[in-house]
Amino acid sequence: MNGDGTRCVHGGHPPVGEGEPLHPGPVLSSTFDLGTGDVLPPDFYGRAGNPTWRALESAIGDLDGGECVLFASGMAAVGAVLRLRAADGALVLPSDGYYLARSLARAELAPLGVEVREVPTAGPWPTLDGAALVLVETPSNPGLDVADVVAAAEVAHAAGALLAVDNTTATPLGQRPLDLGADLVVASDTKALAGHGDVVLGHVSTRDPALAAALREARSRGGAVPGPMETWLAHRGLGTLDLRLERQAGNARAVVDALLAHPAVTDVRWPGHPGDPAHAVAARQMRRWNGVLRFTLASERAVAEFLGASRLVGSATSFGGLRSTADRRARWGDAVAPGLLRFSAGCEDSDDLVADVRAALGAITL
Ligand code: PLP
Repeated sequence: MNGDGTRCVHGGHPPVGEGEPLHPGPVLSSTFDLGTGDVLPPDFYGRAGNPTWRALESAIGDLDGGECVLFASGMAAVGAVLRLRAADGALVLPSDGYYLARSLARAELAPLGVEVREVPTAGPWPTLDGAALVLVETPSNPGLDVADVVAAAEVAHAAGALLAVDNTTATPLGQRPLDLGADLVVASDTKALAGHGDVVLGHVSTRDPALAAALREARSRGGAVPGPMETWLAHRGLGTLDLRLERQAGNARAVVDALLAHPAVTDVRWPGHPGDPAHAVAARQMRRWNGVLRFTLASERAVAEFLGASRLVGSATSFGGLRSTADRRARWGDAVAPGLLRFSAGCEDSDDLVADVRAALGAITL
């Protein structure tokens, strides 16, 4: 089971015995038979564990190269990671990554006395004396900048800190941060991993059994756990991740070429493009590209004209789904130009998507 496609299709599905379902459904039970002995069975209560979680954890863990712990959302996973070492020193976060990670640290952890520092995704890295946990997000949302994970791991470890990598945009097929020296990989599986825009889910993977156990305990204590149905849907979605990424990356490449050739567009970033400033470091550490890119139009009005004219590009936040979407990030408070769009190339036919994007750009009044 070495190829990405095979691992996505078969991961987490044990061999099937005669008469057993090839496609078992979710286990919708909060309670399990405890037996009569002292030793608890693997499943004893739905907040602590569930066979449907274990199946997806096994599949994602295999792809990440570590032990996976599922969470009810990407933010639940990020929160669990940020709290892991909060009592031990400063937290270092990306200044230009997903805004809620910073917001969580500043609104919930800083008032408890945790020092919060920020470093841009692309560096340069200061020395990190006093840091206990460093989070990088690469490629970053929404800037699509790239952090050098090997370099970040060296700086974090020199300070005695753990390195966590938010792998949401790359997915486990696009990048294996644990192989690059990270201690933890965290992701929103709401995006490309589940891939159909119908579930909210997240996970953390690690090779350190003590960290995995601490995360499981935090999940049980926190109590905001994923539902088996969402977990099962995400596992079903994972089956086609390899296929979807291939189409999305191809579409991103074609859309980027169209954008670069258009006078209404500036500031195009997609790490898969050889001309992108982050391409060299991305090509060194990533296994494959994906469909998430960004570009800038002249104004908020130009964005409204573009989205209003497009027939295929939905105006939506989130990314990595079947349908192409675009999100004007300034509306969420990101420190970016008013016309910056994060664009998620979906699985439409490339020719159709490019024709639609060109037509929508043509509708912008200058
Ligand atoms: N990390 C990144 C990079 C994200 O883009 C997001 C959501 O957009 C999250 C974490 C949070 O994930 P969720 O929305 O599943 O809570």
